Amino acid sequence: MTAIDRKSEFPGLAGGWHYLDTAATAQKPQGVIDAVTRALGTDYATVHRGVYGRSAQMTLGYEAARRRVAAFVGGAEEEIVFTRGATEAINLVAYSYPEKGRVLLSTLEHHSNIVPWQLAGWQVDVCPLTDDGRIDLDAAQAMLTPEHTMVALAHVSNVLGSTLDATRAADLAHAVGAKLLLDGCQAVPRMPVDVASIGCDFYAFSAHKLYGPTGIGALWGRADLLDAMPPWQGGGSMIDKVTFPFTTYAPPPQRFEAGTPAIVEAIGFAAACDYVDAIGLDAIHAHEAGLVRSLRDALRPMNDVTLLGPEDSAGIVSFTMEGVHPHDLGTILDEENVAIRAGHHCAQPLMEHLGVSATARASFGLYSSQDDIDALVRGIERARRIFS
Ligand code: PMP
Repeated sequence: MTAIDRKSEFPGLAGGWHYLDTAATAQKPQGVIDAVTRALGTDYATVHRGVYGRSAQMTLGYEAARRRVAAFVGGAEEEIVFTRGATEAINLVAYSYPEKGRVLLSTLEHHSNIVPWQLAGWQVDVCPLTDDGRIDLDAAQAMLTPEHTMVALAHVSNVLGSTLDATRAADLAHAVGAKLLLDGCQAVPRMPVDVASIGCDFYAFSAHKLYGPTGIGALWGRADLLDAMPPWQGGGSMIDKVTFPFTTYAPPPQRFEAGTPAIVEAIGFAAACDYVDAIGLDAIHAHEAGLVRSLRDALRPMNDVTLLGPEDSAGIVSFTMEGVHPHDLGTILDEENVAIRAGHHCAQPLMEHLGVSATARASFGLYSSQDDIDALVRGIERARRIFS
């Protein structure tokens, strides 16, 4: 018996589909779909320029969405930059942060928290993991030097589900004068996040993993840091005054939002925050923790299954199965109406560390249930029969 029973509110889950790929993207509740439909339909107009009522109304809605997203992570509205997603948020910091130097990443990072730093010319150092798949902060402490100007780590791993001690990471970064950027993609849908109490400097996340629309995410950045960062893309809406010899820029967050923004998506993002907060992230966290325990308990006795990551992983369980490639397992499970993810999960350095080319990953959302786990276990047993 699970604590949250909301499956019927998600049209994408109709027909008894056992969706266990929420770490890739979450299904959407009807309330978010309705908010997006209204914004794209009866309420639709551009923002920030209109002298007519509908546009002024939409501008209010867009800026209210910014306040809503800011409140969701405990920040101020001028500290929220709407981006296309976490990937763009991290790219923004990698390109625009004025003190480019050494950045400390970890072995388990998603490619979107590796490649931007490489492209933007940072010198990358890599913090190892503990045996149970957490970022080893003792090792980070030993590695950090005054040359490091940034530490950029996943708050929750998208492969192992391990949760970072984010407050300690902030203290360690600050002790050498570096800033801490957290990749919060997998954390914000799974646990309460308060950037002020963590003490981090930047926080990146995507709406689509939080039951909201694709095409939008946010960078939360400390106001004084955003203020010191130059724009990284030019265009409309991000300027103060444009002349051919010289252009001056708007203050943050507009400075970082060139062009017509993702208006409809921002409204949907705010609706998703409302939806999740109404259920409560403590309840969602407890619900997913129960599902993780149940799945790990079901897989642990299987001699041909290797469980990866810590016992208390947050909503995500990765594993490998002897004699069955994760892609084959995924295909057999699909025949059983069960959707898991198989592959490197955009974390190739982590795969190399684990000594595998791919894993199977089941990931939960607030709508997941024991029924989904039972279907997964049945599918694994069928795969074993097929391949033995
Ligand atoms: N970081 C992590 C930990 C992720 O799981 C993902 C999405 N898989 C990303 C970053 C990138 O997010 P997006 O593709 O929405 O920009």
